Amino acid sequence: MIIENHPKEKEAMEAFHRGDRQEGLRLQEEFAAQFRREYQEKDHCSCKKACRYHGNCKECVAIHRAHQEHVPNCMRPIINQKLKLLSELTEHTLAYEIQPPKEILRKEDR
Ligand code: SF4
Repeated sequence: MIIENHPKEKEAMEAFHRGDRQEGLRLQEEFAAQFRREYQEKDHCSCKKACRYHGNCKECVAIHRAHQEHVPNCMRPIINQKLKLLSELTEHTLAYEIQPPKEILRKEDR
């Protein structure tokens, strides 16, 4: 089971968007139940950093909420996807003005 872009959850969001909350919740629970079963033992965390909180979403999210600097690693591709669209507005010239901090440049993070 691949979590990102899972068709069941996409379907659930379509239901929510058209105002069918009941169906959205039903589909969402189907996804969650499948996730629960499949990842009972397996590693679901996509973060590549060596971190003592790996896979411990509750504490990982609390840490990021606490420092407020950035979001957990697994959520970055979602946000980058949206930012890329906005960045098109200036032909990605923002790239000349920004540089990831040292820690992000580690090879294994890519
Ligand atoms: S919230 Fe943190 S621990 Fe959970 S999957 Fe994302 S990066 Fe991993």
